[in-house]
Amino acid sequence: MASERWTSTTKGEHLRGRRVRDTAPEVALRHAVHQLGLRFRLHRRVAAGCTADFVLPKYQMAVFVDGCFWHGCPEHGAREFRGPNSERWAAKIEQNRARDRRNSDAARAAGWTVVRVWECEIRRDTEAAARRLAEIAGGGATSLSMPPRQE
Ligand SMILES: [Zn+2]
Repeated sequence: MASERWTSTTKGEHLRGRRVRDTAPEVALRHAVHQLGLRFRLHRRVAAGCTADFVLPKYQMAVFVDGCFWHGCPEHGAREFRGPNSERWAAKIEQNRARDRRNSDAARAAGWTVVRVWECEIRRDTEAAARRLAEIAGGGATSLSMPPRQE
């Protein structure tokens, strides 16, 4: 029976497919973005069923901050799950990833420049992550895999 029980935490929000708002990395990134003089709006719906963590209206840019575990970061997402729920975990993460891709596509189709930022990118260097957004805003680049530029 225990294997059927999910603990009700923010994990439950994720499992239901809802983004958890105002996580520590998200707040840190917004602060750094603000420091760069960029103005943002929080939790904007950018397409049907798709709410960005924040948007830069001036640049029509939608930003999503993805937690490493829940969104399957290649570096920190759990590759192997153990225990009675292991298959369900793996399936849920894959569902999240698929939803992320659909949401990115929907937001782009609606005219947004979509930028996804891994939680670990922010933890590693918040200012560099913010600069990446600023560069994309300034340069009009749409590549998501563009590495932070070395000055
Ligand atoms: Zn990561």
